[in-house]
Amino acid sequence: MLEMPAPSEEILDRKSDIVRRLKEVAPEATVIHDPDETKAYECDAFTVYTCSPLAVVLPSSTEEVAAVLKICHEESVPVIPRGSGTSLAGGALPTADSVIVGVSRMNEVLETDYDNRFIRVQTGRTNLSVTAEVEGRGFFYAPDPSSQLACAIAGNIAMNSGGAHCLKYGVTTNNLMGIRLVTIEGEIMDLGGPYLDAGGLDLMGIVCGSEGQLGIVTEAILRIVPKPEGARPVLFGFSSNEVAGACVADIIRAGILPVAIEFMDRPCIRACEDFVGAGYPDVEALLIVEVEGAPSEIDMQLGLIKQVAANHNPETVQESLSDEQSARIWAGRKSAFGAMGRIADYICLDGTIPVSELPRVLKGISKLSETYGLGVANVFHAGDGNLHPLILFDANSEEEVKRCEEMGAEILKLCVESGGCLTGEHGVGVEKRDLMPCQYSEADLEAQMRIKDVFDPNWLLNPTKIFPLHISGERRAA
Ligand SMILES: Cc1cc2nc3c(=O)[nH]c(=O)nc-3n(C[C@H](O)[C@H](O)[C@H](O)COP(=O)(O)OP(=O)(O)OC[C@H]3O[C@@H](n4cnc5c(N)ncnc54)[C@H](O)[C@@H]3O)c2cc1C
Repeated sequence: MLEMPAPSEEILDRKSDIVRRLKEVAPEATVIHDPDETKAYECDAFTVYTCSPLAVVLPSSTEEVAAVLKICHEESVPVIPRGSGTSLAGGALPTADSVIVGVSRMNEVLETDYDNRFIRVQTGRTNLSVTAEVEGRGFFYAPDPSSQLACAIAGNIAMNSGGAHCLKYGVTTNNLMGIRLVTIEGEIMDLGGPYLDAGGLDLMGIVCGSEGQLGIVTEAILRIVPKPEGARPVLFGFSSNEVAGACVADIIRAGILPVAIEFMDRPCIRACEDFVGAGYPDVEALLIVEVEGAPSEIDMQLGLIKQVAANHNPETVQESLSDEQSARIWAGRKSAFGAMGRIADYICLDGTIPVSELPRVLKGISKLSETYGLGVANVFHAGDGNLHPLILFDANSEEEVKRCEEMGAEILKLCVESGGCLTGEHGVGVEKRDLMPCQYSEADLEAQMRIKDVFDPNWLLNPTKIFPLHISGERRAA
């Protein structure tokens, strides 16, 4: 079970002074401190653990963010940056002595430049609404987390989020050109810019994926790309997870680059069918493989993919025949987590492995499911080896929560042992904090903590995230 650090009584005692100071720099209505109202911010989408913060501030400008952070710095109050609160790793989980600084009210489009192919937005803007802004001119923003209707660019940058179509277009860091960052001392910095490869050290590269440890990102310059002429998904149904995994490895080995290869096993297929009616076949494991381009290009790529898949004897091959059918196929995939949530409590893991290891690791996950007596449903970005096993459990049983966490840890260790990584796109947050030493040596963790020391010397930004508490303890206490 996760260790929840005791809040600082000294900070709790100063609550009314801190709130009074925050109201001096942000409109009164945007400073939330009534416990009935702060309850709405007690967790993100990692709902296993909850804790109401001391207060929540929802600024409406970079300058307001800077003023709020300056006060928190002067008062030595921990700060939890927050976008839309959809993190699956507890990245936005507060502590009782912390102030949440949420950017959800900062959601304006500031500039759109089609000639130079970028859009500048405030980071409270939701991912999908960035594409909505530019699609009329034939462009889109490529990173597409399944949560894209709700999640904010803020969280996408902090977690370096990915999505189904990142196999071809890359994840957030590959589509981010510039950011405006506010440090804990209230300094405003512009990193990168509306062009590729800004000069100097790649500080923007360090901030992207740093999980709100280095500052609050208030604006972003995002690369927009022209929409392809067309796209077509094909569904391949297989007799087992391992055979489907082997097919993915062979597609990648053959040097073909579809825009997406997504995997779902039987429990997920059924849940999505019941929820959305996506038209999926009744099979053990399903691959959604999408290619894009001109019609002749699509036919050529699909021909090659079908040849590779034929070596694995698919039970069904079903090509989308219309835009409407393609939309239903993707609606099913993108609602998979929600569909599973109707059936059981689950935690969603997020390990990454080399694609060639898929068959072995999927087998290992099934074995762990038997050993721990807990069901697993798999739905994930197979083309880039980013696994999302959903472990099903009863959140009302403390014993099952413990067993579920232990099993999750074993799965993530299996990913690391297979040459992979603890997190592909959801981040470390509090969820994987204690597993960091499985992947990183003491020296590695020390190097990472020294970067935080530079940006946030008093360890006020998300201080209990990413690093095991016993390793970050002295720094947090200093
Ligand atoms: C149903 C569902 C499906 C999902 N599918 C995907 C998926 O396909 N791919 C994927 O990558 N993720 C996915 N996620 C996870 C989640 O949506 C992403 O991690 C997303 O980027 C979080 O964005 P957010 O705005 O909700 O961030 P939050 O949850 O608010 O915060 C996430 C982290 O970012 C930090 N942060 C927030 N705002 C700022 C800021 N302005 N400056 C600095 N740090 C900040 C927070 O402190 C926290 O550590 C899914 C989640 C759900 C619930």
